[in-house]
Amino acid sequence: MIDLTLYDPFEKMQFSDKNCFLCGTIITPDHRTPVFAEWLQQKYGLKNKELLLLDKSVTTFDQLTIPCCDRCHTHYLLPLEAKVEEAAAKGIEGMRALEAQELFQWIGKMYYGTLVTELIKETSPLIMPQYAVSEDPLMLGKFRAFFQVLQSLRVPMVFSDFLPCSLFLLEIDPAEDELPFEYQDELTTMSFSIKIGTVAVVCTLLDNGIIRSAMGRLYQLTQGKALHPIQLAEFKARVFYAAYIFNVVPEYFVRPVKPEDDHLVLDTLIDDITNEIFNPWEMLAYAHMLEEMLKPWNIREQEILKNPRQPLSFLLDEENNFKEMKHYQKP
Ligand SMILES: [Zn+2]
Repeated sequence: MIDLTLYDPFEKMQFSDKNCFLCGTIITPDHRTPVFAEWLQQKYGLKNKELLLLDKSVTTFDQLTIPCCDRCHTHYLLPLEAKVEEAAAKGIEGMRALEAQELFQWIGKMYYGTLVTELIKETSPLIMPQYAVSEDPLMLGKFRAFFQVLQSLRVPMVFSDFLPCSLFLLEIDPAEDELPFEYQDELTTMSFSIKIGTVAVVCTLLDNGIIRSAMGRLYQLTQGKALHPIQLAEFKARVFYAAYIFNVVPEYFVRPVKPEDDHLVLDTLIDDITNEIFNPWEMLAYAHMLEEMLKPWNIREQEILKNPRQPLSFLLDEENNFKEMKHYQKP
């Protein structure tokens, strides 16, 4: 019989090096799994590359690991990583052929890995974070709902008529792309993006695909095109900003389990009556987000808002048609 029991680390805030992040099993501190898979580290030479954590401390990709039992590591994480590795080797077509749920789990594990690292740190009495995620009830509620669906990594699970995230797959033109690997995540808005070679995956978690629908036309326009890296930066700014003004938290419900069941079925509900789905769009806040993403090109806010009604865009022309772009030259 398949064990369909879900684990809830949020109930007792069980974030420590002694519990497997995925199933809760008691483990010794040397049982760990990398947040960024071994193959990614090898392929893109990440091992000793530094990365900045939320509390401004610095770690390296090979040091960024989370507590994980052998069973979860070998049975659930490694096979998924092997699948993504194989898909990624085939470029954008390979990545497109993956099941959306698998991509969600793959991104979800990396996102949750950085989150868990933060939560474990916050339990240390020596660390007094400026902003403790673990003390924000609204955020904790979101993380808890997210972890429920992330457990589809381990417990067979069918999402009735939704995907718990928005996924965007983009092809990048390598001609002016200097970074073979790039990733970005925002813990509080639950947005994540990763670029491996010529493929970028941009994802907003826990929005049930609403941001993908809202950005449907723009996303359509990018399909079949190889984007300039600056166009990817703008696309990310738009998606991350949408996640920033996204204002509702989906709830997930597990259907009652019968003894013969071999998987769980989850339904979802979004309360869009008490709350608007999106907070109003604010041009200045968007311009800040875009400025942040455009940092490598050193494009400032004044330039972005030169025409205050139509912010600077590398993706769309004045008629909102896709702009082809092979080469970027600073004006
Ligand atoms: Zn486990």
